[in-house]
Amino acid sequence: MDTTGTGRSPMTGRGLCERIVSTVVDVVFPRRCAGCERRGEWVCAECLAALPLAALPLAVPPWCDRCGEAHCQCDRLPAVLGAVRAVGPYDGWLRSAILAFKYEGETARTEHLGDLLAGTLASVESPDILVPVPLHRRRLRERGYDQADLLARRVARVTGIPTVRALVRTRATAQQARLGAGDRAGNVAGAFAAAAGTQLQGARIVLVDDVYTTGSTAAACGEAALAAGASWVGAVVLARGG
Ligand SMILES: [Zn+2]
Ligand SMILES: [Zn+2]
Repeated sequence: MDTTGTGRSPMTGRGLCERIVSTVVDVVFPRRCAGCERRGEWVCAECLAALPLAALPLAVPPWCDRCGEAHCQCDRLPAVLGAVRAVGPYDGWLRSAILAFKYEGETARTEHLGDLLAGTLASVESPDILVPVPLHRRRLRERGYDQADLLARRVARVTGIPTVRALVRTRATAQQARLGAGDRAGNVAGAFAAAAGTQLQGARIVLVDDVYTTGSTAAACGEAALAAGASWVGAVVLARGG
């Protein structure tokens, strides 16, 4: 598409609408580097170079096909998860970008972060459905948006793999980030269930979330998905650690 403003390529209604939306977003939420705040890009070349990304399409195996780590750490992965992929470690510009995206209303980062996430999905074998890790409705009201759902919808758009809000949180849970590792599994155990009318019969599903720490949340979601008929569960996240 012609984005120079010279108007040489025909502009469809949808294309024009998207261009207007993206211009408004750029004006209201100007791109700034999550690492150093420099204007113009979501991450500048220097900050990007300072944090090695694990799973961009450019990254070269070998790494473990299940846990996605260069040095296999499958023994720490919940048994229910068939694969985990992260864009990078929870550190540097990526950590700042996630905090701004999740807690400071900077949803304009959705495309950039979602595109990185889509890159990690390329190494997951034949996923059928993307399932965002659900937010409890109370937290959704407080925050005004669901960051995992925004990411999943962007990844769906880039990859063509459909996203389905197949899971719900059946009870409010304390924020995992505020708990010690030992308390996290109990906090989310049994906190998820299949949404009414959801059919996951035989589907290979991939959970979408922002951060993976102990894996407790992904495991609890995975168990709910398997109980709803899914045949396999993987997870893609922006960052691992935290
Ligand atoms: Zn920077
Ligand atoms: Zn492994």
